[in-house]
Order: sequence, then structure tokens, then C-alpha cells
Amino acid sequence: MIRVGVNGYHTIGARLADAVKKQPDMRLIGVSKMQPDYRARIAAEKEIDVYAANEKSLESFRNVKMTAKGMLTDLLQKVDVIVDATPDEVGASNKPIYEGAGVKGIFQGGEEHSLTNFSFVAQCNYGEAANKRFVRVVSCNTTALCRALHALERASGIEKARAVLVRRGADPDEVGKGPIDAVVLDPPTVPSHHAADVRSVMKGLNIVTMAVKVPETHMHLHTLLVTLKKKASREVVVDALESEPRVVLVDSKTGVKSTAALIDMAREMGRPRNDIYEAVVWRDSVSVSDNEVYFFLAVHQEAIVIPENIDAIRAVSGGYTEAQSMKVTDDSLSISPGAWKT
Ligand code: NAD
Repeated sequence: MIRVGVNGYHTIGARLADAVKKQPDMRLIGVSKMQPDYRARIAAEKEIDVYAANEKSLESFRNVKMTAKGMLTDLLQKVDVIVDATPDEVGASNKPIYEGAGVKGIFQGGEEHSLTNFSFVAQCNYGEAANKRFVRVVSCNTTALCRALHALERASGIEKARAVLVRRGADPDEVGKGPIDAVVLDPPTVPSHHAADVRSVMKGLNIVTMAVKVPETHMHLHTLLVTLKKKASREVVVDALESEPRVVLVDSKTGVKSTAALIDMAREMGRPRNDIYEAVVWRDSVSVSDNEVYFFLAVHQEAIVIPENIDAIRAVSGGYTEAQSMKVTDDSLSISPGAWKT
């Protein structure tokens, strides 16, 4: 059993802790939290051991008479791998603590690539993570782009990829963030950082990205325009996307014409927290003209990196091939193309 701890327990961390509990080869030792808030209480009800992030946190647990199992430093004594799910760039300040404790660490896409010098998407570079001490799982947008582009690269090779990202302004519970009534250039310059982030995984790929932020909380939507090295029929392109792990195709004719419909579908499918772990492509948007391919891609930012984190834990721990790990992860999270009835 791989002993796993999660540091930072909110959007990504809480989902990850639940996913770790579902793995037959992993044991969730505990989670570390800053505040003894409602999430800490629910975690305790789920019989998850909650640790305080530091002395100050421990004090705030004591102040509300909530018992913490110890501090992050105590948790680190008991785990093989710590997954850092703290806010952007906080992970970097935690790395020396993990180094001192002698544990392996998985970081998130809010950290710079240079923190680990290795950025991870399971189907692109699982094998290269073997024996790495620290791995960074890329952001939600980069994960989705890498999965979809990996499919096209396999099918026909990519001459160049261009993507416009319409990004959600905030996660559903981030009440202090905007925009409320604007489309914000994010950033106003081209390219956005996503292109370089994709290249941190798919080395040398000719990709340019542009991004805007909109008043939406549930999902991102990408518009992709890809030039293939070899001409391919629409059928070949659709087949490539359909056979790519963790990419699903949906059809607007069944009523799925928006990100809201996707979230509704995930709810109706009984997905926990309406989570969509897959990158979603609209089948009817896939258009091919000579060697140019166009399509829409939707990304559930809160969920898409969860399977990648689980695979990253296995990849640094050894014992599984890419295919074996992805299968165990997917089975545990009910990820299968057949799950999407469209
Ligand atoms: P979040 O703000 O929802 O959760 C972070 C939690 O960590 C909060 O509860 C916060 O109180 C806690 N925290 C802050 N400092 C801490 C510390 N020193 N020790 C322990 N806990 C601490 O953040 P998130 O959205 O889960 O993002 C976590 C990481 O995942 C970031 O790198 C982010 O870029 C990345 N990511 C986020 C999303 C998303 O859409 N939310 C998607 C993909 C990747």
C-alpha cells in the first residue's frame, strides 16, 4: 500500500483525498488543513484524519475545541507520498519541508514547471516519472489540451496547434472573484502561458494559445484549430479522439449544447460533486478541411486533474505501467467512454 497524505484540503485536495480512498493500492493517512472549518468537520465525519498545517493552525483548531491529529510535520512522518494541493505558489514554499521529511511529492499546476523540472500528464509521459522525487501535475487547461493533442499527434502528427481558451472566472465557491459582467483579456498579450505549459509536457510542439476570462464558474471551453502533418479524414480524427484515454465525445443532437448541460449530465450520471474527469469534445464540432482540424473542447477545472494526480502517485512509487495505472484509476472513478450516453 502506498501511504498518501494530502496537504491543502479544498477544491482539488478534498476531491483527491476521496479518490485516494478508492484506490486498492493506496491508503489515505490524512489531510492537512489551515482552518478548522466545515470541510475539516466533514472530513472528520468521513473518518479522514485531519492534521493542522502549522502551529498557528493547531492553535485555531484548539480554539474551536476541534482535535487535530497532529501537524503537517507529523503527517509527513507517516507517508510515502504527499500531494500538495495548496494555493498557487504556496507549494513552492512547502517543498523544503517535504525534502526535509524525505517524502516524495506531487505538486499542482499553480506551481512553476521549474519547481520540479518535470510536468506530468499520464498518457504523455507516465514512464518518465519513474523514480522522480517530485512531479508537477499540470493545470486543468493544459491537461485537457495535452490529452486532445496527444490523440491528433498519434493519428497524423501535428504541424501546428492554435487554441483560444474561454476560462471560467472562478470556481463555484469563490465568491470574492470576478468578472461579474465582463470578458477579460487574460492576458491581453499573445501567447498566453498555456502554450509553454503544454510544451513542458509535449516537447517541441508548435502551439500558440490566447485566453479570456468570463463570468462562469463551472467549466472552461477551448476552441482548437490544428494543422496536421498528414491529411486525415474526419473519421480518422474522430476515431483518434474517441480512442484517446480520458477524452469523451458528446453530441449536441442529444441536447448537450453547453457546459451547463455537461455539468447537468454529470449530476444525472451520479458523478460525485458533478465531477467530469474527462476532457469533453463535441463530436459535431469536429470539422476537417484538408489537413486542418477544428473542434470545441470543454474542461471541468475542479475534476480533470484528479486521475492525473492518482497516476502521478503511482508513477513515482513504481510497480505499475502507464496502462495498468490508468486502468486502476479509471475503474475506481468510473471513467469509461461507455459512461457517457451520447
Ligand atoms: P483552493 O484555494 O480551493 O484550496 C487550497 C486550500 O489550501 C485552502 O483550503 C487553503 O486554506 C489551504 N492552504 C493555504 N495555505 C496552506 C498551507 N500552507 N498549508 C496547508 N493548506 C493551505 O485551491 P485549489 O483550487 O484546490 O488549487 C490547489 C492547486 O491546484 C493550485 O496549484 C491550483 O492552481 C491547482 N489547480 C486548481 C484547479 C481549480 O480549478 N481549482 C484546477 C487545476 C489545478
